[in-house]
Amino acid sequence: MKYKSFTLHNFRQIPQIEKLSEEQKFAIETVGNVLPFRVSNYVIDELIDWDNFENDPFFILTFPQKGMLSEYRFEKIAGLLKNGASHSELTGAINKIRLDLNPNPAGQERNVPVFEGKRLNGIQHKYRETMLFFPTQGQTCHSYCTFCFRWPQFALNDFRFAMKEAELMVRYLRSQPEITDVLFTGGDPAVMKTRFFEHYFNALLDANIPHLKNIRIGTKALTYWPYRFTNDDDADDLLRLFEKVKKKGVNIALMAHLNHPGELKTKAVKNAIDRLLNAGVQIRSQSPLLKNINNSSSVWAENWKLQLTLGIIPYYMFIARNTGAQNYFAVTLEQAWRIYKNAFKQVSGIHRTVRGPSMSTNPGKIQVLGISEIMEEKVFVLTFLQARNPNWVGRPFYAAYDEDALWLDDLLPAFNKEEFFFEESTRIFNFQN
Ligand SMILES: *Cc1c(COP(=O)(O)O)cnc(C)c1O
Ligand code: SF4
Repeated sequence: MKYKSFTLHNFRQIPQIEKLSEEQKFAIETVGNVLPFRVSNYVIDELIDWDNFENDPFFILTFPQKGMLSEYRFEKIAGLLKNGASHSELTGAINKIRLDLNPNPAGQERNVPVFEGKRLNGIQHKYRETMLFFPTQGQTCHSYCTFCFRWPQFALNDFRFAMKEAELMVRYLRSQPEITDVLFTGGDPAVMKTRFFEHYFNALLDANIPHLKNIRIGTKALTYWPYRFTNDDDADDLLRLFEKVKKKGVNIALMAHLNHPGELKTKAVKNAIDRLLNAGVQIRSQSPLLKNINNSSSVWAENWKLQLTLGIIPYYMFIARNTGAQNYFAVTLEQAWRIYKNAFKQVSGIHRTVRGPSMSTNPGKIQVLGISEIMEEKVFVLTFLQARNPNWVGRPFYAAYDEDALWLDDLLPAFNKEEFFFEESTRIFNFQN
């Protein structure tokens, strides 16, 4: 299969789109003007069940849905489109909505390190051991996920976090002996040609940095464009490069976004997994918990079981971030915990490498351990899986129970405390200064 993608401007040419009513197509157009929209021929032809597209997880995950905008905002954009509003009027309304959708959650600017007097705009270094690297060529994706928290970078063309210079990355890494992991992220770095991977990986390997133990690639390509690892022109070269990393004594891990068991069933994806495993690549899975997609414990249990059968290690279950179309996908913290617990208890210990449900917040990755009652107060029991301050990790803390809470911002400390234990130190602590 040769890669082809469709966007707002040509999606009406997708043959299967004839199954949609005019109203449904117009809804895609309306929402697609605000939130990014791009879908590959593989998702269209191999993943979406067009006989049942309205309930199909991959249709909802890639095609903008009416409910992703509030009724007011939807009608506003729909009205402008119908009345043939001027370009500037339309753009003004679109930008206003985008800015209201919390385009830059969790204070990501704070993670950009200052090095040799300059901000390194393609790097984020939030957790001591792991540095994120945003290669310039890897800042788009084969298809765009409608839940994605990186949506502003596609919609607003804001490539704020991207970087070209391999040499500067290596210098920064060398200067930080506590970093063991370099995580390539985006966008999706797997949209890059192999020659760019070679450029970055060779720079890392040639530098012989003893504290570099793991190179990770965060990607959705395994299931949205599996041919990246099989039939693409430079797929063989990519696998050879992965083998080289492994031979050099550095672990290579593919951090695969896997939202639903349905994406692990095609021949192409199985083929891709086999080739990666044979090249010595470790595959780990992560996904947000999403209403309308996978908010059921049996879907998660099935997904983890299938992953193990295929050789994938379940890694993270995330809570949908407070950005973009969050309302459409949001699951309360309580529901998230129940789904996790009920899925977890259905599977054997070998699957229980997965951790969650976890919120990626400004202070760190916060796991909802459960709901309990302490001194006659109903509370959420929480802990840090990752934190800006490594000393916070693993320390339980408590928030007042709130059945509607969706995110850390909705929570108050339990027992009438003024603030959570980490708030005071957040004001004064940053491990880099
Ligand atoms: C999740 C995350 C990482 C990786 O954390 P691990 O627990 O090591 O997988 C690194 N940096 C940021 C900013 C993250 O959100
Ligand atoms: S592949 Fe990842 S970065 Fe790209 S749209 Fe999906 S969630 Fe976002």
